[in-house]
Amino acid sequence: MRSANLSLLLRHLHDHGGRTRAALSQETGLSKAAVTSLIADLAERGLVQEGKIDRRGTVGRPGTEVRIDPGHAAGIGLELNVDYLAVSLRDLGGQVRFRSSVPMPLVDGPDGRSYPPGPVLDLAAQQLREALAAAGAEGLWVAGATIAPPGPVDYEGASVRFASNLGWSDVPLGRALEQRLGTDLPPLSLENDAKLSALAEAPRLARQGITDLVYLTGDIGVGAGIIADGNLIRGWSGFSGEVGHIGLDPAGPRCRCGRRGCWETLVGFDTVLAVLDAEDPARSGRLPMQERLRRIRTLLDAGDARLEDRFARLPEDLVRGAGVLVDVLNPQAIVLGGYFGAFADRLVRPVQEALDLRLLAQDGRVEVSASVLGLDAAAAGGAAVALERVLADPLLAPPLPAGAARA
Ligand SMILES: [Zn+2]
Repeated sequence: MRSANLSLLLRHLHDHGGRTRAALSQETGLSKAAVTSLIADLAERGLVQEGKIDRRGTVGRPGTEVRIDPGHAAGIGLELNVDYLAVSLRDLGGQVRFRSSVPMPLVDGPDGRSYPPGPVLDLAAQQLREALAAAGAEGLWVAGATIAPPGPVDYEGASVRFASNLGWSDVPLGRALEQRLGTDLPPLSLENDAKLSALAEAPRLARQGITDLVYLTGDIGVGAGIIADGNLIRGWSGFSGEVGHIGLDPAGPRCRCGRRGCWETLVGFDTVLAVLDAEDPARSGRLPMQERLRRIRTLLDAGDARLEDRFARLPEDLVRGAGVLVDVLNPQAIVLGGYFGAFADRLVRPVQEALDLRLLAQDGRVEVSASVLGLDAAAAGGAAVALERVLADPLLAPPLPAGAARA
C-alpha cells in the first residue's frame, strides 16, 4: 500500500511537474497528512526535493513546491544497432548525464560483413561499465539498464529472438552480460530498439494530444514501434513492428530474412549507400554513424546526382509501406527516425503529401514528422524504461545518508 502510494506521488510529479503538497493531495485523492509523510520518504531516498515557492494561489499562505530530484536516481539505455552501439545515462529529471556511441565491431569475410556476438557483447559490456562509472562519479544510483537490440526479444529469457541484419537468432544477451559484468550489472531488461524509440518520443507527442503513433527506424533494416491509445503494442510474441519485412514486391531482391521484395530492400540505408562508390567513406561500417550521415549530407549539399536521384525516389517507396501501416493502424502520427530522421528535410514533406493524396477520409489524416531524439532515441527510451522500475516501486531506491535529504 505504502509503495503504491509512493509510486502514485512520484509518477504524478514525474509526469506533471512540480507542485505543492496541497495540490498533490487534491489531485491524487491522498490526505494532506499522507502526502506529507510520503513526500518525506521520497525525499529521504533522493527522489524528490523542495522547489521554489508557489505564489499562484491567492488564498492562504503560499506553499512550497515539491519536485523531482534529478540528482540521485538514473537509468541506462544501450542500443545495439547494426551500425553502432550507443549508451545513454539519464537521471530521473530526464537529463542526459553521459552518452557514448561507437561503431559496431564487425568482421569482413568472403560472404560479406558479420557481427559475431562475442566481440559485440564485449563492447556492450565496456559501454555499460563506462556508463556505470559515470553514474558513480556523479553520485547517481542506477535503477536498471535496458538493452535495445534491432529485433524481437524474448522478454523472459533475456535473449534476442531474431535480428536478421546481425545474422543473430536466440542470442542470450542477458546471460552474456551477466558473465561479463558479474555483480556490477544493474537489473537488466531487453526491449526492441524501435519499440523503445517509440516510447522515448511518446511523452512529447502525448502533450500534443497524440496517443496513436508509429515510429519508423530507418537503418539497414526498418522497424516500427507502435503505440495505440497510449500503450506500446508488442504483439502476441513480441514480433509486432517487424514492418521491414512486409512483402511489397514478389519479384524483388532477396532480403536477409530469406523472403523477397521486403520493404527494407526498397528503403533500407544500404539502398542509399549502394549508389556511392564502393570505397566511399560513408560505406565503411568502421566510421561512426554520425560521420557517415554527415558525409552523405555533404555530398547532397554539393549536388551529388546519384544521391539526389535516390532521395527523390525514396518517398514513393516509403509511402508504399507507410500506406499499409496507415490502413492497418490508423495512427495520428508517423515519426521518422534513424537515417529517415536525419534526412527529414528531403522526406517529411513528400511523404506527408503522398499520404494525404491517398486519404480515404479527411479525419484519417496522419501527421508525419522527424524524431527529435535522432540516433539517441532507442538508448533514451531504454534509460526511461530502466527508470520505470523506481517509478513503479520507489522503495527500491536506497535511503540517502542521514541529513542529506532536501525536502
Ligand atoms: Zn525481409
